[in-house]
Amino acid sequence: MSLVPYDDRDGFIWMDGAMAPWRDVKVHVLTHALHYASCVFEGERVYDGRIFKLTEHSERLAHSARVMGFELPYDVAAIDRACTQVVAANGIGDGYVRPLAWRGAEMMGVSAQRCRIHVAIAAWTWPAYFTPEARLQGIRMTRARYDRPAPNTAPTQSKAAGLYMICTLSKHEAEAKGYDDALMLDYRGFLAEGTGANLFLAIDGKLHTPKADCFLNGITRQTVIDLARGRGIEVIERHIEPEELAAAREVFLTGTAVEITPVREIDEHRFEVGQVTRQLIGDFDALTREPAQRQAV
Ligand code: PMP
Repeated sequence: MSLVPYDDRDGFIWMDGAMAPWRDVKVHVLTHALHYASCVFEGERVYDGRIFKLTEHSERLAHSARVMGFELPYDVAAIDRACTQVVAANGIGDGYVRPLAWRGAEMMGVSAQRCRIHVAIAAWTWPAYFTPEARLQGIRMTRARYDRPAPNTAPTQSKAAGLYMICTLSKHEAEAKGYDDALMLDYRGFLAEGTGANLFLAIDGKLHTPKADCFLNGITRQTVIDLARGRGIEVIERHIEPEELAAAREVFLTGTAVEITPVREIDEHRFEVGQVTRQLIGDFDALTREPAQRQAV
């Protein structure tokens, strides 16, 4: 498969307040974020030209920045507007939006107090994260070598670039073994999440999901909890032992990129793509295609 690099495409990227031709948007190699991971970002999906839960994402970007010790130079409404402009400028129907904010090149060292904060937003047409077959049949996962860090060892409630180094390493290791994704435990040994998505287990008709106290409380996770409760399905957020996978009949991941993706296998455990998962996929698909004013669940 030939790859079209992300820096060699047509289109427009919003950067520091203005729309610019895609290829002209560059950062210098002596940028603080590149060396010290002082960067936060978002991932948003576009359905029928509209960004799903846009303001929630813009608010999370601002929150992530604050957790990382900086303020965005734009308010949430301005970020919302810029995201919408980028989607329109690139003529996106179904796709993905990537806003990011980072410390610039004014200082090169651990201290970055006087670095300028930059913001950029790109968007592109994007198919499903997993192939349609995988989405229907369920993906295969294996235990990750790395655990989600404790809240006192990393800014775990920020969607910060640095937190993804263990995700990429874990995902690469899983892929090398022929799996689709890795299952990360938390620092206490409880189930946590995938490398870019939250985890749900259906046990005896109820949904159980790991308590999001050391990883991202995903916007899709919150949406799915609301949809399930709306269907009268009990949802329990708690600490879950890895051994409890043996009792799960259905397992799925949730995230902006993966949407709701069933899991059919985690190492020695097997699951079915059952009624709970199918119903929620149907509800989620309907919700994301609904007019914006009805999207709040
Ligand atoms: N966990 C991680 C590590 C993620 O990268 C993501 C994707 N942002 C999620 C969970 C799911 O979050 P959301 O549903 O807000 O996309």
